[in-house]
Amino acid sequence: MSYDFAIIGAGAAGTLLAVELVNRPSLATKKVLIVDREGGDYRDRTWCFWAESGHSLDFLVKHSYTHIAVSDQYDKPYASIHPYTYNRIEGADFHDHYRPILKNHPQIDFVQDEVESIDSKKDMAHIHLTSGVSKSAKICFDSRFSYNRLSASKYPVLQQHFIGLEIETNEAVFDSSKADFMDFSVPQKGNTRFMYVLPTSATRALFEYTLFSHNPLKESEYEEAIHEYLALKEIANYKVISREKGSIPMSSHPLWRPLSSRVLPIGLNGGWAKPSTGFAFNRSLQRVRQIADYVESNPESLPRLKFKNRFWLYDLLLLDLLDRNNGEGSKLFLRLFEKCKPQLILRFLDEKTNFLEELLIMSANRPIPFIQSFFRWLFKGL
Ligand SMILES: Cc1cc2nc3c(=O)[nH]c(=O)nc-3n(C[C@H](O)[C@H](O)[C@H](O)COP(=O)(O)OP(=O)(O)OC[C@H]3O[C@@H](n4cnc5c(N)ncnc54)[C@H](O)[C@@H]3O)c2cc1C
Repeated sequence: MSYDFAIIGAGAAGTLLAVELVNRPSLATKKVLIVDREGGDYRDRTWCFWAESGHSLDFLVKHSYTHIAVSDQYDKPYASIHPYTYNRIEGADFHDHYRPILKNHPQIDFVQDEVESIDSKKDMAHIHLTSGVSKSAKICFDSRFSYNRLSASKYPVLQQHFIGLEIETNEAVFDSSKADFMDFSVPQKGNTRFMYVLPTSATRALFEYTLFSHNPLKESEYEEAIHEYLALKEIANYKVISREKGSIPMSSHPLWRPLSSRVLPIGLNGGWAKPSTGFAFNRSLQRVRQIADYVESNPESLPRLKFKNRFWLYDLLLLDLLDRNNGEGSKLFLRLFEKCKPQLILRFLDEKTNFLEELLIMSANRPIPFIQSFFRWLFKGL
């Protein structure tokens, strides 16, 4: 049997795409194959995004923050982000809600297996599984990401890499309405390093030691940095409840381009993470809608989506600076949040600002290095 659509990987992107496709009445006759090797499920991660009220995934949000800080000070200048809230979804809740829907939906065949390779013929992608079985689909969406795809890129490639520890304290020490987006008080050691802190109650919080840099650290280094940070905050009596780790590609490389005539990369593999921040979750919701819109009118052809716009250029210029001078990141982000309202920056990161607002944001920083980067890339070829 051949399918209309195959989705490789039922992670955040694959799941959201499958749900979007089968929810469209005009695609009600389409058959969807999902292949996921499963095993590593989503109990190991939390997803956060900012949004105004009325977001389509509000029903999964376990915790929301009304104030955030980007700072290197001991007493943080938390700022309201109204009308946004910064929302936290537990991977487990996402998984528990959507996995049964995918597994029981009449349009979907959910196969637990590992994809070994995909080869594309003119009209069909053939998907070869580790079990020896092969499946075919007219259009294949592939969320398997590997840094190999970026190894020959002409664009700067950094990673947002981190380990997070969720801790529980004996005493009430946290304010669960406030999130530390970026606490740059940690030693920078020539990189862009910060602590990301998300309390969920007076006694519980996630501490994530995060870098925007070229190479991962030894695992023990992230955890030591978290314990040192807690000691400086005089938080001594705590136990670690859970741990998460990740590495998200930060690059302006056009990862969104088709992998072959029948295969479109999605999720991190499709460059859905914002290159300058690593935020991918909310962008995935936008991308799956774009894909579904496209296949509704062209169900037989591979979606052609282009993301090279002025925001792509801003991301490239920022990454170029971090690539050449990795230790400058903290100054850059601190200046930005000192001079601009957080709502404006969040809207900018959502790519919803106008050019005048973008000039305001750029003038908050020293524009000369960005202008130099721009001309360097202009001569090099964008
Ligand atoms: C710990 C962590 C926290 C994060 N927090 C945030 C956040 O707060 N906000 C935000 O915007 N972004 C966040 N991200 C970034 C991004 O949103 C996530 O990485 C998101 O899960 C990416 O979705 P994806 O579908 O591309 O990849 P994944 O969700 O990782 O899904 C890939 C799927 O492919 C399957 N798979 C892989 N290889 C094969 C194969 N060969 N055969 C079959 N199946 C295969 C895997 O089993 C998996 O289910 C976070 C990432 C991590 C790792």
